[in-house]
Amino acid sequence: MLENIEITSPFWRERQQTIARQMIPYQWEVINDLQHVDIAVTNTGGDSSALDSDKSYVVENFKVAARKKQGDPNPGKRGGMVFQDSDAYKWLEAVAYTLECQAALELRHKADQLIEIIGAAQEDDGYLNTYFQVNEPERKYQSLYMSHELYCAGHLIEAAVAYTKATGTTQFLSIAKKLADNIDAHFGPEEGKIHGADGHEEIELALLRLYELTHEERYLKLATYLLLIRGQDPDFFGAQQRRDVALGRKSLIPGLEIIHPDFKAPYFQSDKPVYEQTEAKGHAVRVVYLCSALALGAALSGDERLKKAADNYWRNIVMKRMYLTGAIGSSAHGEAFTGDYDLPNDSIYGETCASVGLIFFAHYLLRAQQNGAMGDVMEQALYNTVLAGMNLDGKGFFYVNPLAANPYLSQVNPGLRHVLTRRPGWFACACCPPNLARMVMSLGHYVYHVSNNVIYNDLFVASTARFNLNGAHLTLKQSTNYPWEGTICYEVPQAEQSFTLALRIPQWCEHFTVQLNGETKADYQLEQGYLKVQLQQGDKLVLTLDMPALRVAADPRIDADYGKQAVVRGPIVFCAEEVDNGPNLQCLHLGADLEGHYDPNLLGGVYVIESHGQRRTMQEPSLTVASPLYHKAQPLHYQAQTIKLIPYYAWCNRAEGEMRVWLNPMP
Ligand SMILES: [Zn+2]
Repeated sequence: MLENIEITSPFWRERQQTIARQMIPYQWEVINDLQHVDIAVTNTGGDSSALDSDKSYVVENFKVAARKKQGDPNPGKRGGMVFQDSDAYKWLEAVAYTLECQAALELRHKADQLIEIIGAAQEDDGYLNTYFQVNEPERKYQSLYMSHELYCAGHLIEAAVAYTKATGTTQFLSIAKKLADNIDAHFGPEEGKIHGADGHEEIELALLRLYELTHEERYLKLATYLLLIRGQDPDFFGAQQRRDVALGRKSLIPGLEIIHPDFKAPYFQSDKPVYEQTEAKGHAVRVVYLCSALALGAALSGDERLKKAADNYWRNIVMKRMYLTGAIGSSAHGEAFTGDYDLPNDSIYGETCASVGLIFFAHYLLRAQQNGAMGDVMEQALYNTVLAGMNLDGKGFFYVNPLAANPYLSQVNPGLRHVLTRRPGWFACACCPPNLARMVMSLGHYVYHVSNNVIYNDLFVASTARFNLNGAHLTLKQSTNYPWEGTICYEVPQAEQSFTLALRIPQWCEHFTVQLNGETKADYQLEQGYLKVQLQQGDKLVLTLDMPALRVAADPRIDADYGKQAVVRGPIVFCAEEVDNGPNLQCLHLGADLEGHYDPNLLGGVYVIESHGQRRTMQEPSLTVASPLYHKAQPLHYQAQTIKLIPYYAWCNRAEGEMRVWLNPMP
């Protein structure tokens, strides 16, 4: 097992520092309403005007719930979305991973304070959800289609697992176990219990992680139950919706009807049992959270039904429904998957959380199956969509991650209004920023995994890691300037015995070399995308991945990308921005060359690619300014233009303007 890892990569350290020093303290201010932020941004398809525009209420809600529990007749107002509690939990989880990397005493103090407040709000029977405690106690566990009760509980449990591992303290874990036990008392196959799951998956993965930490079988059993009960009764959520309407209850999402065309069984992945699902349907974040649990659940329980479900989902998502940037979820309607090869670049949803979830899914599948293709997807989502989810200064965030954007069209076209061309400071529905924070801060957990005593290197990240392989300790040092350079050097300063290191050879890499102690090795064979090398103390291994800038074409069934090309280099997808290339990016044509260099002064240091291309002139010489919108087709005219491309993740950090990933090739 991996005992600990210290990330030394300048690329990732800088991002972790930004998150630890800027983003997490900033989010603390936001969740405590210590700072005015404009959060009147709707991204749920709902009506955020029902929410206060400058208060998050996150921490306040726990205080209100605690006062109510103590019998205060006027405990105060509970505000924000129904799932607002989860923001506190994700913040705590990000802090936990930060504490693994550094002794952040002030953060630790704040986190302990918050855990205290959360504990004070928890009811004696373990129930914990401020919305239902304060606003509608009679509705607990009755509106699971949209209540997010187990979703929030899942985030609490995941945060508690991480916090316990990072600090060794158990106060938070006690709260989590009490809550998990409350869920166990209410959900299960026994008579009198609820025979269904939460509309938003998350509890399943959390319970599996709680089981991994505590080895208490009942959590594995409950997680497996919740995974397998989903879809057994396709009308489970529909019946709850109809009952709520009949009882005159209000919608839990402001502005959205309880019975809404987007909220049918497929939205909740409950139209059939998971092992009969063959396509990713419905809300994308829900799908990948479900999938992550299926993958981990299959690994922990050996249940073939879970494995089959995870494999089916993986195939469908990766082969037919994923963007080049690792974004998923093509439609803003229901923040959802649509159909195979339907991957529009401008009206995409591509929620940051969905790509975070895709990384979880890939990671857990990888742990079970040792297939490098899953590592490829992991880094595709990580280096592109997830990193694009935040400004370089860590103070602005994207919820939606388009591959083509135009500020004017986002203003005038209601179908594109969800596609922002500036990262706002916060959202009314603020799932993405803390999710991104916990992802980047926990990066060390994704660099290696160990299976059958083999160390698999899944991500190339400069680091020093310590392993314990059945009692034998070893230290593995990785030095690299990845993602800008493809040379990765491994050193073994200490190893009690020899061991096998499996290196992921990415699918984008057409040629690579391996040198062990100065000698080039040629007698290797790839096994599912991994190259295995035997190492011992004192060894030095150098892997060199050729990393030229490449043009990528899409499957011709993807209408939006037909005839176009994108530029990638290693795991990084590039894009053109208006600030470098002028407006009307649709008129650009990539040239025959792709020339790259590292620019330390641009966007915090990025690789830049230039191409001597062309731009179609806006007016044909034969046409006048008053020429009609349509005219007889005739030979087109072009002028030379050097096209400058930057990493997609860094877009929208300068002047607001157009952006596009897929470009025209030379005419
Ligand atoms: Zn989100």
